Amino acid sequence: ATPTAVMVGTGVGATQGVLIKGGKALESAHKVNCIVFDKTGTLTIGKPVVVTTKIFKTMSIKNFYAFAAAAEVNSEHPIAKAIVEHAKKIIEEQNQSWPEAHNFVSVSGHGVTAMVLNKEIMVGNKKMMLDHNITISADAEEILAEAESLAQTGILVSLDGEVAGVLAVSDPVKPGANEVISILNSMKIKSIMVTGDNWGTANSIARQAGIETVIAEAQPETKATKIKELQASGYTVAMVGDGINDSPALVAADVGMAIGAGTDIAIEAADIVLMKSNLEDIIIAIDLANKTFSRIR
Ligand code: ADP
Ligand code: MG
Repeated sequence: ATPTAVMVGTGVGATQGVLIKGGKALESAHKVNCIVFDKTGTLTIGKPVVVTTKIFKTMSIKNFYAFAAAAEVNSEHPIAKAIVEHAKKIIEEQNQSWPEAHNFVSVSGHGVTAMVLNKEIMVGNKKMMLDHNITISADAEEILAEAESLAQTGILVSLDGEVAGVLAVSDPVKPGANEVISILNSMKIKSIMVTGDNWGTANSIARQAGIETVIAEAQPETKATKIKELQASGYTVAMVGDGINDSPALVAADVGMAIGAGTDIAIEAADIVLMKSNLEDIIIAIDLANKTFSRIR
């Protein structure tokens, strides 16, 4: 393509809310035959809400959420925000606030721990609990499995090494995600979903989005490693993501595409920014690239 064609292409993109950072990005987008999607905030709306709570200890729901929120208020994770929002509703109805947390630690891809009112609290997934030798009862396992089958994420809350309760958050697939995946299929572009979330929830979400290939329980490094593996096996890969966690993969991909509503770090790492946060705009970007690079030069 001539420099003029590239300028026209990026210009047209800009008017449609598809920010293309240069001709190289457009050229790579033209060659893409595999797209790796992050789950939370990319394929899903990204604003999880608490939908289920089950408490195992003799403890009020108010106290349970006071502990959980005290720990999670220090975390930026969307699940942490869901828990804090839910706690606010329950606690503020009774005009209460929650205690302060000390020794807060965030374990990437697993959850958080802190000391609250002299108790050690842990909020996170199964892996987080198992890594700390905390027993998960059959009752708790059952609730987690049910959440996963409903495409929800189950989270455990432990106090001093014992599971106090389980909650589930729901973060629905974006409307239209399924259609975008099927258009990509028809363009012979393979779609893959990668997430730090558990396999059960990941598979349920992928099924709803129409994605067949799933990588779950992935660490941020795993996301980038997977991209490099796909490239080594001959694919030209685009990565679509919104999180800080996604930036290594956005950089590793031939084309990194950031969701406009995502974190600044992801937006900086990306080659293309989908300003309207619509998945449909992935098709617009690729169409534009195809038109620009199939023009007679
Ligand atoms: P992703 O962004 O792909 O969902 P993450 O690596 O951020 O993945 O998180 C993976 C999993 O770790 C989450 O699904 C959740 O189970 C758990 N997790 C991470 N952070 C938190 C947190 N602050 N509170 C509770 N669970 C968490
Ligand atoms: Mg995300």
